[in-house]
Amino acid sequence: MATPLVAVEHRTEPQDERTALTKEAFQRDFFNNLFYILGKFPTLATKNDYYQALAFVVRDRMLQRWISTAAAYTKQGSRTVAYFSAEFLMGPHLGNNLVNLGIHDEVRKAVTELGLDFNELLLEEDEPGLGNGGLGRLAACFIESLATLQIPSLGYGIRYEFGIFHQEIVDGWQTERTDKWLRFGNPWEIPRPEWAVHVKLGGYTEPYRDEFYRHRVRWVPDRLVAAVPYDTPILGYHTNTANTLRLWKAEAPESFDFAVFNRGDYYGAVMQKVSSENLSKVLYPNDEQLQGKELRLSQQYFFVSASLQDMFRILKIQKIPVERFHEKFAAQLNDTHPAIAVAELMRLLIDENVVPWEQAWDITRRTFAYTNHTLLPEALECWPLPLFAKLLPRHLEIIFEINARFLDEVRIRFYGDEERIARMSLIDERGERYVRMAHLACVGSHAINGVAELHSELLKQDVLRDFYELWPTRFGNKTNGVTPRRWMALSNPRLTKLVSSHIGDEWITDLSQLRRLEPLAEDAGFRQQWLDVKRACKCDFAAVALKKTGITIDPDSLFDVQVKRIHEYKRQHLNILHVVALYHRLRSNPNVDITPRTFIFGGKAAPGYHIAKLIIKLITSVGDVVNRDPAVRDRLKVVFLPNFNVKNGQRIYPAADLSEQVSTAGKEASGTGNMKFSMNGALTIGTMDGANIEIREEVGAENFFLFGLTTPEVGALKASGYNPANYLDGELKEVVELIRSGFFSRGDAELFRPLIDGLVHHDPYLVFADFDSYSKAQQQVSAAYQDRDHWARMSILNSARSGKFSSDRTIREYCDDIWKAPAVPIRLLTQEDVKV
Ligand code: PLP
Repeated sequence: MATPLVAVEHRTEPQDERTALTKEAFQRDFFNNLFYILGKFPTLATKNDYYQALAFVVRDRMLQRWISTAAAYTKQGSRTVAYFSAEFLMGPHLGNNLVNLGIHDEVRKAVTELGLDFNELLLEEDEPGLGNGGLGRLAACFIESLATLQIPSLGYGIRYEFGIFHQEIVDGWQTERTDKWLRFGNPWEIPRPEWAVHVKLGGYTEPYRDEFYRHRVRWVPDRLVAAVPYDTPILGYHTNTANTLRLWKAEAPESFDFAVFNRGDYYGAVMQKVSSENLSKVLYPNDEQLQGKELRLSQQYFFVSASLQDMFRILKIQKIPVERFHEKFAAQLNDTHPAIAVAELMRLLIDENVVPWEQAWDITRRTFAYTNHTLLPEALECWPLPLFAKLLPRHLEIIFEINARFLDEVRIRFYGDEERIARMSLIDERGERYVRMAHLACVGSHAINGVAELHSELLKQDVLRDFYELWPTRFGNKTNGVTPRRWMALSNPRLTKLVSSHIGDEWITDLSQLRRLEPLAEDAGFRQQWLDVKRACKCDFAAVALKKTGITIDPDSLFDVQVKRIHEYKRQHLNILHVVALYHRLRSNPNVDITPRTFIFGGKAAPGYHIAKLIIKLITSVGDVVNRDPAVRDRLKVVFLPNFNVKNGQRIYPAADLSEQVSTAGKEASGTGNMKFSMNGALTIGTMDGANIEIREEVGAENFFLFGLTTPEVGALKASGYNPANYLDGELKEVVELIRSGFFSRGDAELFRPLIDGLVHHDPYLVFADFDSYSKAQQQVSAAYQDRDHWARMSILNSARSGKFSSDRTIREYCDDIWKAPAVPIRLLTQEDVKV
């Protein structure tokens, strides 16, 4: 059963001076903030000052909701979801908060009246890019949906000083610049040093007897780091709920280590402070070789320990006994990054609260649930045992004990199957010994899920098969979703207005209502309006592309878009090979009739991932040739938009005609970009992978361009000994030869050799095997785009049938099936109400 949405009641709030929602109040407060908070006057004020002045206008209006929410939860001791994630890719706050408060248009008017450019101010915000891609953005969509559904929740993560690097393209290559998002301050966060906690690291353990003569274990660390919470309010859409995102910053417990200082080692003391602060210094890009990176494991433990200690503090305030921890909190592990939480909660219960092992284990298991995000074996986290022992000696003991008890259970269930025991052990003993974090997460959780139907099935059949056979009822699926507030209402206001003018605006909190657009697909007038909106979004994007790349693109061409992390399994190289094929066709026969297309790429490669960086170089190099070649006559354009992030995503998704979702079947867990495109009326060309399958199911096979091998076909081909060279004939051969010859690299036949040789000799992601099928599907796309009217129909149906992909639906399922967390509507309080 779905949890019903509580009725909107946002306009009935008691208002005081600082929360009034009138244009005059906005303008007055805007200048007050510029004066009193930023200490500036208009002649000296920068755009960023204006942005911040506006941000504080909005924050004041949010605080009333935040305080009312905190007061209600504290008083009621509400059951609370704790979402543990090493990444929250939030994107800019201002626009979203304006939309969710319901004052976007009023504030736009107020600002415009002051002679300022509202859009320019929104663009001033340095977005908190505290995530790599899909996983971090999912966490951001989830906490927004939790607030909109009025579910008490806390997002727990790390306040990285430097988020995901800023990408620049220099001479066609990716270069990385540090992301200084905090350089001008962050108006959305409030530090809470009074709730700081200490996190221990290193040292050794020793047994002792306490005052009641009980056997206990003491952990004597060799380092302490202070974790300071920075809180950001997360507002629900048109509700009074404002939940909290609590991110931890690492600091030294004291500014100076006085023992060291007194010995005269001033610099040593300061260095200790620096090394503590390193813990929250930088977000690691994924796809890097992380094994053995001590700082990464320290980061994970740091935020997990701080968060769990914070949860104990909350229990204490609300006078809830520790034995009821799992009744108060449902904690979700977003991938294995926070999996150490299983051992840390055990430690806190056993060592610090003297709860007996069995009871502590019961509490732990009832508290945690685990979401797996990847099928790539190399991405499953393992930590070398010596490193683990050095950093977390007490946790290793606890993990050994959990493992011993767990393997006893396996031994009894699967009598005599020692191989299974070795496979399932929390410790990999096949060579050098490792702690397997996914196994720890599985053993310590009462629910385990994948993020799309296919992915959840593959977990059961393959990656976590042994665990599925042991505990089948713990496994489930929660297909990802994205928030329609940011990804439609905020990023596509034209579409939002068009849709709402026909079906009202309830779809914003109940996306299934978009189905009511279906009959309008048959209405010629509506189709024209729909195309007009799309064209306007394409014009907006063309302006962005021109500004950022210097390339002029034609809004009447088909915008064919692939934006996501650059990775071989996502197969941007399949896409660019097809671009080269089209170019080759054009050059071979200049009169060939081709549908004019603009190929738009965007995405970051992990700094150490050489082949991914070479793929970017190939894309930009092909673009350099194709965009300049007069023989092409502007029928093909290739744009690599630098620095794909949330802000840029908000401008790209609405402008796309075609969404490229071309991963090798069985490799993409879900994808969420695919959902954002479809919602905004793009058609998908895609494989049977991740959530593509469900998108196709929803929108209808006739409104989706399918190609490529299925997961079982991929498996069979690999099992039979895949030889990519067998596929190297016809057009593909000519394309490969053209690249190999140095045509796109000024005659340098070596530049792309690692990429091309890799494909010809290995091709682990079956690019060659799928090329022909992809190329044919692309021909269908081109033909379909010629009939613009029919394209409009398909586009409308994509959007109309995207209701399933709202993160509200996903969160309802988590709440109903795993978290058992009911909604708690919030009554707004005024300052008077909370006076003591
Ligand atoms: N990065 C950003 C900024 C996004 O908005 C998204 C979209 O969900 C992603 C990465 C993930 O994209 P995909 O699901 O296509 O891999």
